[in-house]
Amino acid sequence: MEYLPNIIFAVALIVGIGFFARNVKKLSRNIKLGKDVDVSDNKSQRWKNMAKIALGQTKMVVRPIAGIMHVIVYVGFIIINIEVLEIILDGLLGTHRLFSPLGPVYNFLIGSFEILALLVIVAVVVFWIRRNIIRIQRFIKPEMKGWPKTDGNMILYIEFVLMLLFLTMNATDFQLQRIGAEHYVQAGSFPVSQFIVPLFDGLSESSLIFVERTAWWLHILGILAFLNYLYYSKHLHILLAFPNTYYGKIKPQGQFNNLESVTKEVKLMMDPDADPYAAPVEDDAAEPEKFGASDVMDLNWVQLLNAYTCTECGRCTSECPANQTGKKLSPRKIMMDTRDRLEEVGKIMDANKGEFVPDGKQLLGDYISHEELWACTTCNACVEACPVSIDPLSIIVEMRRYLVMEQSAAPTELNNMMSNIENNGAPWPYNQMDRLNWVNE
Ligand code: SF4
Ligand code: SF4
Repeated sequence: MEYLPNIIFAVALIVGIGFFARNVKKLSRNIKLGKDVDVSDNKSQRWKNMAKIALGQTKMVVRPIAGIMHVIVYVGFIIINIEVLEIILDGLLGTHRLFSPLGPVYNFLIGSFEILALLVIVAVVVFWIRRNIIRIQRFIKPEMKGWPKTDGNMILYIEFVLMLLFLTMNATDFQLQRIGAEHYVQAGSFPVSQFIVPLFDGLSESSLIFVERTAWWLHILGILAFLNYLYYSKHLHILLAFPNTYYGKIKPQGQFNNLESVTKEVKLMMDPDADPYAAPVEDDAAEPEKFGASDVMDLNWVQLLNAYTCTECGRCTSECPANQTGKKLSPRKIMMDTRDRLEEVGKIMDANKGEFVPDGKQLLGDYISHEELWACTTCNACVEACPVSIDPLSIIVEMRRYLVMEQSAAPTELNNMMSNIENNGAPWPYNQMDRLNWVNE
């Protein structure tokens, strides 16, 4: 019986980490459904981007209030979780404050964690007010109804409760140290939790131990639960922001990729020395390449990683000129739809032993409408605004490519323009012979 808590703790840890590992496997499988893309270039630039954007949060602070608050929550949450290491070891070994022999260093660390915990609580409350009382525009757009709204609030509640449990645990521990309870070593400094100690005045030693242990257990179980919640939440970005900024676009802003097959055709047409008959004979049996994207499997894996990394912050949508002028397009929704469809495809695979069985649905049409796609001005503002290097524009362009090149389903204005270019060498409906008529007018 003496080791029962340690055994329960070990089981909880194995179950928590096991489920998390299972979700990571699913995540990786889903991302790998995307087409391959070569991102092995410019490694030093990529590392720099990751250090600056993900670690340094440089793009977050462009909007100072939200940015600074986010840095506090991020740093606080990561650093306080260093204490989780001590909690895990204590839980497994049956010790209490295992690192306390570090003396003044330990006291400094616990003191810093407490100050950060308080700052996290303040930041979380401000975030909650911005979302629910002030109702900042970008948090109340149509795509933020239902689960995205609940998810955003849920994360704040969980962080709030975890920090509160941490401070409660320390406050009761501090009180137990003061009354000299057995097992509670004199260690740590408590610059914040000392102020909530009076709440526990008058409690007997056994009651204090009960509150301290309850807070300790709920804190660590809450962290394990939160770890598993990540997969279902936009909060996945705390992990994926790092690979995403590393693999993010480093080409000049707004530069599109060319389709290899089209480039080849154009070269053959434009190069007077090219001999079309000398072109290598294609493998007749090979399936012709699909132009653009109509579903998530047609996108590349970096675009799918982008979808999972989206924080749903809406900075892209708030900068989008199409959205600002009342069009249906929201680049954030493009990313959310891509993720939702990818999740749907993943679930179908789970239900069919890893095989995807067509379900009669696709990203284009069932999630993202033609109207949204054609509202994009390709201005690139969404890509510039994104704090984690997501590129919604590339998905829009791929889907437009599909519409134009596979379905000939471009809007009439665009079709007219393309016919004019083809026939007249210019977007206007005038004969090339008439080009210089204006000279005589
Ligand atoms: S590129 Fe398109 S989606 Fe992005 S901000 Fe510009 S108009 Fe909006
Ligand atoms: S794409 Fe980027 S800017 Fe837009 S909502 Fe997602 S994380 Fe925010």
